[in-house]
Amino acid sequence: MRIGYGFDAHRLVPHRKLVLGGAQIDYPLGLEGHSDADVLIHAIIDALLGAAGMGDIGMLFPDTDPSYEGVSSLRLLSETVSRITPLGFEISNVDVTLFAERPKIGPYREQIAQNVADAIGVHRSRVNIKATTTEELGFVGRREGMAAAAVALLNETKNA
Ligand code: MG
Repeated sequence: MRIGYGFDAHRLVPHRKLVLGGAQIDYPLGLEGHSDADVLIHAIIDALLGAAGMGDIGMLFPDTDPSYEGVSSLRLLSETVSRITPLGFEISNVDVTLFAERPKIGPYREQIAQNVADAIGVHRSRVNIKATTTEELGFVGRREGMAAAAVALLNETKNA
């Protein structure tokens, strides 16, 4: 088994759609970034890459590459998995925590988990989505941005 950890943060700005886990969230601000800035998915990608010993998201999908501008991070997640599995890994499970003061993501949790499960090709039961506030502390608490942390466990199906 191989474990990996990922963390990401993005700034909240006006005039951007808020996309979390591939779900479009009803909120007056969105996350700033080169892609759709889906902080939750970026943390998962880095967790998977970490477990596979494959560096980080910036190495695979450089933000200097115009082909990734505005791209759906779910697509980047699928592409990540398509690079990992040929090396002899299968995904055991993924667990992610979103740090956001607002809005509540409870209503979107099921959709997000299913989006992630579909993108990485596992059963829904292998994906866990959590969210927390930071009790109004720090940049998350001041609603200046959002962050996410994820862990992923890979099984080696052959000598990777
Ligand atoms: Mg990011």
